[in-house]
Amino acid sequence: MKKSKFIVLAAPSGSGKTTLVNKLLKESKLDLSFSISATSRSPRTNELDGKNYFFLSKEEFIKKIKNREFLEWEEVYKDTFYGTLNSELENAVEKNLIFDIDVIGGLNIKKKFPNQTLTIFIKPPSIDELESRLKKRNSESEFSIKIRINKAKDEILLADKFDYVVENDILEKSYNKVFKLVNNFINE
Ligand code: ADP
Ligand code: 5GP
Repeated sequence: MKKSKFIVLAAPSGSGKTTLVNKLLKESKLDLSFSISATSRSPRTNELDGKNYFFLSKEEFIKKIKNREFLEWEEVYKDTFYGTLNSELENAVEKNLIFDIDVIGGLNIKKKFPNQTLTIFIKPPSIDELESRLKKRNSESEFSIKIRINKAKDEILLADKFDYVVENDILEKSYNKVFKLVNNFINE
C-alpha cells in the first residue's frame, strides 16, 4: 500500500498560508487533499462547516479531547481550540494530505510521522506587513489582530525548526518556491 505523504504549511496568522494552500490544492499534478481541522472559533463569512473547518462548540471540542479523538490539538489563542481529528488521517489512506495548522501543531505532526512529513514555514516579510494584511482581510476585530500579532512574534522564533522557510513577499514568487518543494517531496 502506498504511504500517504503529509505537507505542513505553518505560519503566523495573516502570512498568506491559506492563499498558498488553496493554490496548491488546485494543482492536479499534486493531487493533494486538505486536512480539515476542527475549531471552536465561529465561522467567518464564506467559511463552510465540513469544508474549511469542522466548527464545534468549546464543550464539543473538549469532549473530543477527552475521548482522545485528536491526533493533535492546541489552544492556539486563549479559549479558542484547534485540532486535527484522527478520523482525517483514517479517511485519507493512500492520499497526500496538506495541513494548514499552527506552528506547534505542525511540528507535532512531523514528530509523529518524521519520514512522511514535509514542513514549510511561511514567513511574513515583516510584522508591519502582517498587520496590514490582517487589516485588509477584514475578518478580525482590532482585539483579535492584536492577539495574532503578539503570537506571531513567538512563532517566528520557531521557524528554524522547519524543513524549509519561505518568505511570502511576492505571492507568485513565493508560490513557485513552495510548489517546487512540495512537488519534489511528493515525487521523490
Ligand atoms: P493566513 O492563512 O496565513 O492567515 P491568508 O492566506 O488569509 O493568511 O492571507 C492574509 C491576507 O493577505 C489575505 O487577504 C491575502 O489575500 C493576503 N495575501 C496573501 N499573500 C500575500 C502576498 N504575498 N502579498 C500581499 N498580500 C497577500
Ligand atoms: P484561523 O483562525 O486564522 O483560521 O487559524 C488560526 C491559527 O490556527 C492558524 O495558525 C491555523 O493554521 C491554526 N490551525 C488551524 N487548524 C489547526 C489544527 O488543526 N491544529 C493546530 N494546532 N492549529 C490549527
